[in-house]
Amino acid sequence: MFAELDEPPLDPILGLAQLLAGDTSPDKVDLGIGIYHDDQGRAPVLDCVKAAERWLLETQPSKRYLSSSGNADYNAATRALLFGDGSDGFARSRTIQAPGGTGALRLASDLLRRLSPGGRIFIPGPTWPNHPAIFKATGHELVVYPYYDIETGKVRFDEMMATLGAMGAKDTLLLHGCCHNPTGADLDAAQWSAIADLVSKTGAAVMVDLAYLGLGDGLSEDAAGIRLLAERLPEFIVATSCSKNFALYRERVGALTVVGASETNAVRAHAHALPVARTLWSMPPDHGAAIVAHVLGDAELRRGWERELATMRDRINTMRNRLSARLAGHGDRDYGFIARQRGMFTMLGISPEGVETLRREHHVHLTSSGRVNVAGLNEGNVDRVADAIAAVGNA
Ligand code: PMP
Repeated sequence: MFAELDEPPLDPILGLAQLLAGDTSPDKVDLGIGIYHDDQGRAPVLDCVKAAERWLLETQPSKRYLSSSGNADYNAATRALLFGDGSDGFARSRTIQAPGGTGALRLASDLLRRLSPGGRIFIPGPTWPNHPAIFKATGHELVVYPYYDIETGKVRFDEMMATLGAMGAKDTLLLHGCCHNPTGADLDAAQWSAIADLVSKTGAAVMVDLAYLGLGDGLSEDAAGIRLLAERLPEFIVATSCSKNFALYRERVGALTVVGASETNAVRAHAHALPVARTLWSMPPDHGAAIVAHVLGDAELRRGWERELATMRDRINTMRNRLSARLAGHGDRDYGFIARQRGMFTMLGISPEGVETLRREHHVHLTSSGRVNVAGLNEGNVDRVADAIAAVGNA
């Protein structure tokens, strides 16, 4: 069985890590892998997480299974973060814990296949490469809708809406809730509203991927899109991740939240998702979710988390301003969009050859798609990176 296998394709993330490790320059800059770095280039464990881990170590009475739905406090805290404690969206939703945002998306994809067989999933072009991979793995047909204008750094909203006009009642629309990966270009309130109108007309389902809550403009600001959907649509689903906003990457903390027309409908949808989760991982990992539940449930730790999150967010936005301003000094192109975009990523239209030159000649590492992780910039490297990007000529 194994002997006849072809050489597997190189894992792009592994390839990137190898190239970075092999670069011996003391000036090397990692703008590739989607991880937040502090001003010293480190990706530390948050203080609130350390405190919750200490608490967990001291007090956890057992490691017995919880349930396929996971940690109930974490699930309730997730719904409260999304819609606001006691809100209508909170009441009309139910959450299942999942291993990371990836697990939540896979669960959603399997569930959609069961509930809406034959339905297509409309995904933005470009999107996080794991989106098409996950949805194809569950047998979905995909349609790519135009999303990003690489010249202006804006959303191609009219073209997007024209393509989405072809959605049918069995189809699903995938949206990024905030901090679009890989472009950083988000929908504004009027655009969310127009999408809600369109979806109401077509009857299509909506799935929102919210992997960067709190890293754009703030916790409630970044939830504005899904809160608007909760006001306007009877039902939709949200996949969330605490990988970035709690820096819990390897602990695999995510969730799938289903919003129904009524609480009863949400409870029913949740009950249908549970047996799907059972076939995927049976029980989700507990450690990270227990940490998040404790931090969000303890007033002091929660304040600490909000401060640490604000530090990350402010640093990203400062680096956006710095990169945009420095690039502006290099020619005619208007780089104001970098400062207006949100989240960890932007795309400047750097070709694969340009990416290679940046790595070889300037020790600046990006993914081959030309995505820039702004959170890898700091006071010590931002000017040098901007000058290198300008030097490769096609930025
Ligand atoms: N969605 C998007 C858009 C992402 O960028 C990521 C992480 N790169 C995820 C989901 C999933 O993250 P994780 O599985 O690590 O929680």
